Parts: sequence; C-alpha cells; structure tokens
Amino acid sequence: MAKLSNAAKQRHLETGGQQCCPYCRRDADHIEYGDLTPVEDGHIEQDARCMRCGRRWRDIFTLTDVRSLSD
Ligand SMILES: [Zn+2]
Repeated sequence: MAKLSNAAKQRHLETGGQQCCPYCRRDADHIEYGDLTPVEDGHIEQDARCMRCGRRWRDIFTLTDVRSLSD
C-alpha cells in the first residue's frame, strides 16, 4: 500500500473515513469499497480503492456505542 502521510491519516480519521480519498481527497463517489470484514481482535476492516488516483487503503473500525432496537 502507498505511504500515507501523518497529516493525511489524521484528516481521514477526523472525517470518519467515509468522506473522501485520504490521498487525493476526491469524494466518496469515486471510491470503491470492499466488504466489511470482522477480525479476531474485535475490529472491522474494509478495503477501499480510489478510482481517481488508483490508491488503495484499509479502514479499520471499532465499536463506539450500542443502541437498543427491542423497545
Ligand atoms: Zn484518490
């Protein structure tokens, strides 16, 4: 995977990762997302590829909240 600068990484995390490509900053309309894959340590990973700049990356998600759906 291509090197991602610390500033680009920070910006990607602050925007929730779904707003744009972390490399060329194109919006999500130009990003192809893979399946959400649960991994053993409790994270969920999702690979992504930007159609504009061709770079690929992996977003890693963690559980931040839980809401009841049974009320
Ligand atoms: Zn891009």
